[in-house]
Amino acid sequence: MQRPAIIRKTTAELARPPHLADYAATCRAFTWDAARRELAGLPGGGLNIAYEAVERHALGTRRDQVAFRFLGAGARRELSYGELSALTSRFANVLRGLGVARDERVFVLAGRIPELYLAVLGSLKAGCVVSPLFSAFGPEPIATRLNLGAGAVLVTTASLYRRKVEPIRAQLPTLRHVLLAADDDAPPAALPGTLELAALMAQADEHFDTVPTQPEDLALLHFTSGTTGTPKGAMHVHEAVVTHWATGRYALDLHADDVFWCTADPGWVTGTSYGIVAPLLHGVTSVIDEADFDAERWYRILQDEAVSVWYTAPTAIRMLMKAGPELARRYRFPRLRFVASVGEPLNPEAVWWGAEVLGRPIHDNWWQTETGGIMIANFPALDIKPGSMGLPLPGVEAAIVRPRADGGVDLLTKPDEEGELALKRGWPAMLRGYLGNEARYRKCFAGDWYLTGDLARRDADGYFWFVGRSDDVIKSAGHLIGPFEVESALMEHPAVAEAGVIGKPDAVVGEVVKAFVSLKPGFVPDEALRLALLGHARKRLGAAVAPKEIDFLPTLPRTRSGKIMRRLLKARELGLPEGDTSTLEAGA
Ligand code: AMP
Repeated sequence: MQRPAIIRKTTAELARPPHLADYAATCRAFTWDAARRELAGLPGGGLNIAYEAVERHALGTRRDQVAFRFLGAGARRELSYGELSALTSRFANVLRGLGVARDERVFVLAGRIPELYLAVLGSLKAGCVVSPLFSAFGPEPIATRLNLGAGAVLVTTASLYRRKVEPIRAQLPTLRHVLLAADDDAPPAALPGTLELAALMAQADEHFDTVPTQPEDLALLHFTSGTTGTPKGAMHVHEAVVTHWATGRYALDLHADDVFWCTADPGWVTGTSYGIVAPLLHGVTSVIDEADFDAERWYRILQDEAVSVWYTAPTAIRMLMKAGPELARRYRFPRLRFVASVGEPLNPEAVWWGAEVLGRPIHDNWWQTETGGIMIANFPALDIKPGSMGLPLPGVEAAIVRPRADGGVDLLTKPDEEGELALKRGWPAMLRGYLGNEARYRKCFAGDWYLTGDLARRDADGYFWFVGRSDDVIKSAGHLIGPFEVESALMEHPAVAEAGVIGKPDAVVGEVVKAFVSLKPGFVPDEALRLALLGHARKRLGAAVAPKEIDFLPTLPRTRSGKIMRRLLKARELGLPEGDTSTLEAGA
C-alpha cells in the first residue's frame, strides 16, 4: 500500500507537551555543560552513573516511587528507588567484603532477573567496571569476553554456571569470584568454587558511600562483534551518564510519571543505556520482562502495565506485524504516548503499522554501541518521514562525509549525497577506546570526526536516511544499492514478514541483488509467489535496483539484539566461512 511520505504532527496529537517542543531553539540553547548541571554529581566531587540513577532519587522525593517492576515467570516484583538504593549498596558491600577493588571488572551473565540490575548498579557504586553479557551465550563467547575484559567477578545463576561456565572455569585465569543467584535448577551452595549471592547480600550492610569516581573513569564495557576477528570491547566512562540523561529527556521524552518499557536485554548496549540507566535518571517506573518475545504477551504487557513510553526494535515490530492485526485488536493502549525503535532500519511500513495498530507511529532512532546513547532521532514534536532516522540530538553534530586518503574527510553538503555518517567528537557517551586495541580505536576517527561505518544521506530538511552498513552495501552495474531500500519495498507486499538483501558476486554487473524472504502465516512459498514478489519489487524499485533472485527461508538469521545478519546470509549463499557467530540467535 502506498502512503503519504510524511506523518504530520499536530499539537492535538501530542498527548502532552514534549520536552523538546521547538527543535531549532533547543539545539541553539543546548550545551553539554548545562546538561551536566541537571545531574547532582557526587557529594564530595566526582560523577557516578549509579549515584545519579539511584541515590539522587532515594535521597529525594522519589524514594517510594517504583523504579523497576519485574515481570518474572511467577510473581511480579517491584523495587522502589529507596529499596534499589539499599540493595545495590548491599551488593557494593559484598564486592568490598570479597576484596574486589575499584576499577576491577564485574561480568554479569543472567536473564533479566532483579540480581542482574542490582549487580550492574551495585558494581558501578563500588567503582567497578561492569559488563553485562547475553545469558544465551555459550561457553566460548563467555570465555572470550571475560578474558578480554580480565573479569575478576562473575555474577550468574546456578544453572547457567553449571552449563556454561563450569566447563571452562580453568580457562578463566583472572576470575576470582563467582556469585550465584538462585534459580530453580541447582541449589547454589552445592557448586564448588562459587558463592551464594543471596546469603552474602543478606549479611551485607545496606549503607554504602558511592566510590568517588571521576567523569573519565571507566564504567561499562560493551562487546560488539565485527564481521571477522574477536569481538571489540567498547569502553564507556561515567561521563556517559550526561548523554543518557539528555537522550532520555529529548529522544524518549521521559517524564517522571511515565511507565517505560525498553524491551532490549542488557547484553546489548540498548538494554543498559535505556533498559537500566536513562529511565532511572528520569525517575520513571521501568517495566522489565524476563520472558522472550511473544506477541500476545507483549500486547498484554503494553495494555495491563499501562506502558506510556515504549522503546523496542524493528525485529519485534516485524514479528508483531507478522502475528496479524486481529491479535492487536483484542487489546487497548490508551496510555501509550510515545513509541521508539532502534537497532536496524525501520521500514516505512512498520512506522505506519504503529500508527494504525498501536495508535502511535513508531519513531526510529539511530545509534551504536560506540556512541553509548541515541545520536539521531525522530522527536515527538517533529513530523516523521517514514524510513528516515530523523535529526541529530541537540548537542550532536552529524555529517555525511567521504574519508580522504590523507586521513581527513570531505564534508558532503549537497542534499541526498550518499557518504559515511560521521559525528563530531565530544559527546559525553562516546567510547573512550576498544579494550586492548588502540589501533582499531584510532581508525574510527578522521580528525575531529568519529566515523560510524554506516552509509547514509541527509535530505534538504536535514533528516538522515540510512543507506546501509558500509560492509552490506551492494554495487550493481555501477549503482550503489542499500539493502534497506530493497527490503522495505519487499516488506510492503502483504505476504512478506521479513526480508534480508545481499549482493551476490556476478561477472557481468559486479553484484546482483538477491533477497531472502520469510513469509507471514498462511502464505505458501511457491513459484507463483516468487514471481509475484519479483514483479512487485521491480514495479516499486525499477529493474536496476530490484532483486534478481528471491529465496524463501522460514526465518532469517538474526543477532541476539534482533539485527538481520546479512553477512551471514551472504556467507551461506557463497559457501564462505561464517566468521564470528557468537551473537547469532539460537536456531537461526
Ligand atoms: P550495535 O552497536 O550492535 O547497536 O549496532 C549499531 C548498528 O546498528 C549501527 O551502526 C547501524 O548499522 C545499525 N542501526 C542501529 N540503529 C539503526 C537505525 N535506526 N537505522 C538503521 N540502522 C541502525
